[in-house]
Amino acid sequence: MSNNPLKQYFRQPALYLKLPTLGKWYNSTDVELSQDHEVPVYGLSALDDIMLNTPDALLNGQALENVIKNCVPNVKNVKALMVPDLETIFLGMKIATNNGKYEIERKCPGCSVDVNFEVNCYNLLDQTTYIEDSDTKIQFNENLILEISPYTFEMRQLFMQRQFEEQQTLRMIDEQNKDIDNFEKARILAESIERLSIITFKLVSMSIRSIKLVKENVLVTDQTQIVEWLVNIPKSQADTIIDTVNQLNTVGPLREVDAQCDKCNHTWKETLNFDPVSFFGKR
Ligand SMILES: [Zn+2]
Repeated sequence: MSNNPLKQYFRQPALYLKLPTLGKWYNSTDVELSQDHEVPVYGLSALDDIMLNTPDALLNGQALENVIKNCVPNVKNVKALMVPDLETIFLGMKIATNNGKYEIERKCPGCSVDVNFEVNCYNLLDQTTYIEDSDTKIQFNENLILEISPYTFEMRQLFMQRQFEEQQTLRMIDEQNKDIDNFEKARILAESIERLSIITFKLVSMSIRSIKLVKENVLVTDQTQIVEWLVNIPKSQADTIIDTVNQLNTVGPLREVDAQCDKCNHTWKETLNFDPVSFFGKR
């Protein structure tokens, strides 16, 4: 391909993105960042666009990995990409491909009419927040200091797949047992939620990179030891860890916008979702 005289007419980077993690957890084989923690972003090719509109292909992860590599070649290992960076990259890809306008259709909470409104991805990127060291530390009992990191692409993908499977199972049960009573339904739903909670617990344990015992001057990095500790701590501490990891996952572009209904003038805060299926999909 490097000898192709047409190469000079290939698409060019449309913008440079500063990543919200500032590359804190990557090595050079994962992501190549400039001095300013930036990566160049290219618009979608026609093939990328087709892949992003094939939800089944996206679910296995490989197709999405290829699209990301194609639009952000400096990302060498997509699986290691952290969620805040991943979502920033989705916004960058949207801007690089068209004018960065993202159209959303919602039922107005005021009058229940379907309304369309437009979100400008430039504005969301303009208000990007960046991870600071203090966001990644949790201290307990004056002696334990945890270092945490956001979910990676691979962890996010695992969660999305499980969530999809659970939704499928619930839908099937619903369809096959038309006369299933509400009590039984509630039991099945509770089981499904429990299975997803177990996955969340597993992912959160993977987000703990190390635990430092200050007095003993010991650093625990062994995942088995960390998981063993996690299942034996008070619920309040586990909740703190889950909340902090969740918060870390939402650093990055602005995720909430003001929405207004043009029928009844009702206003509300709309939480945005950059999941590629809805974000890039053409309805
Ligand atoms: Zn309304």
